[in-house]
Amino acid sequence: MRIYNTLSKEIEEFVPYEDKKVRMYTCGPTVYNYAHIGNLRTYIFEDILQKGLEYLGYEVIRAMNITDVGHLTGDSDTGKDKMVESSKKEGKDVFELARFYTEAFFNDMKDLNIKKPEIVEKASDYIPTYIKMIEKLIDEDYAYFSNGNVYFDISKANDYYKLSGKNAEDLLVGVRNSVEEDKAKRNPADFVLWFTVSKFSNHILKWNSPWGVGYPGWHIECSGISYETLGEHLDIHCGGVDNIFPHHTNEIAQSEAFLGHKWCNYWCHGAHLNDKSGKMSKSKGEFLTLSLLKEKGYIPLDYRYFCLNSHYRNSLEFSYSSLDIAKNALAKLRSKVLSLKKEGEVSLEKKELYVEKFKDSFSNDINTSMMVTTLYDVLKDNSLNDITKFEIIKDFDKVLSLDLCVSKEEELSTDLKKEIEEKILERKKAKEEKDFLLADKIRDGLLEKGVKLIDTREGTTYELI
Ligand code: AMP
Ligand code: ZN
Repeated sequence: MRIYNTLSKEIEEFVPYEDKKVRMYTCGPTVYNYAHIGNLRTYIFEDILQKGLEYLGYEVIRAMNITDVGHLTGDSDTGKDKMVESSKKEGKDVFELARFYTEAFFNDMKDLNIKKPEIVEKASDYIPTYIKMIEKLIDEDYAYFSNGNVYFDISKANDYYKLSGKNAEDLLVGVRNSVEEDKAKRNPADFVLWFTVSKFSNHILKWNSPWGVGYPGWHIECSGISYETLGEHLDIHCGGVDNIFPHHTNEIAQSEAFLGHKWCNYWCHGAHLNDKSGKMSKSKGEFLTLSLLKEKGYIPLDYRYFCLNSHYRNSLEFSYSSLDIAKNALAKLRSKVLSLKKEGEVSLEKKELYVEKFKDSFSNDINTSMMVTTLYDVLKDNSLNDITKFEIIKDFDKVLSLDLCVSKEEELSTDLKKEIEEKILERKKAKEEKDFLLADKIRDGLLEKGVKLIDTREGTTYELI
């Protein structure tokens, strides 16, 4: 397996700390709003990485945080807390807000066939860990208390800029232009580990600490959760490219200072999805969510397929016309796969050849479009019988997760099937009792769920639309 490492800026051979076991940490969402489809592109890439490694025979333990405190509107300790601002706007209590958007996030993940990480932890549940880490950082002179906050002193870190390749000069320009220059810092790039209420006296989320009532900075939460759940050594840490600086840079500085040794070997970043105007935004322009795509008639897997056709390190521009192309291609692909006859014997030898090709594409820095091409090659290969093709594609779909081998009917959960059957009976009864209003209401209710009833002489059946 070879993968690009942001740390070395090279494609490297992947060697985990422990043979065949991978500890992977992926930064999770800040649950102040719905995820946009740009965020979801990053989670799709991380899902493919996890499943691809599992396909190669690794056991992967993936952890993810849910940020429900400390992420300010400016990534460098500037601006206001995103959660607190949104709770005011929506008139919801912060924890209710977090619950609501966490649930919405996992619904999106499920719709996109993204495996839920083995470990998911809320930032607000790890306050004692952050306090323990910060105390040690202060004791060992990596951190200092100044004007109400605790800061990490970046001049003490081992090569602070090693991940981003930035330098102090670039940063100084940014700081000079910033209206919020923090005079309490020793170095302009020092970052906050713990805010006391001096920052916002009315901050809702606050806890006691040795430095006064306050709340943690955003960066310490990922270091803390990763340390508690995955231990002192991490194999892979992922996120979108915007996380490289300052978030991941600061995670490395504080984790390595706390642990006293190198922390994570491979840093993998997904490039952004942009809209026509450039950066994807939750506040400006059309707020592109998965629900919006569903409302417009796309299925979530159309978007997954759209993402898989480009390389994760290339930025990708979103347009409805390219999503339409993906939608049509996926529908054709699925119907081709479903039309394969499941008769005869599987040629294991031929299957192995294609599996190797597929593994090679994944192992070549997660070349998803090559993985998809290999799948088309299987369909085109006249030397393969249908059942062999079907079995190979079923195997590939463990990683691609496009539901290629599941017919729409099979996709239906038994619960929904049961519900439809019950509704059909209810409607039949309503018709017998000449309550046509109710009968129509039942029909329309099912239609809204994508279930079209068809009345025949033999009775009522249905189709999924
Ligand atoms: P956030 O909820 O803002 O903390 O972001 C969640 C994840 O989405 C992070 O890994 C970000 O790096 C990533 N991300 C943010 N914007 C984009 C984008 N336009 N395209 C791809 N990933 C993004
Ligand atoms: Zn993080």
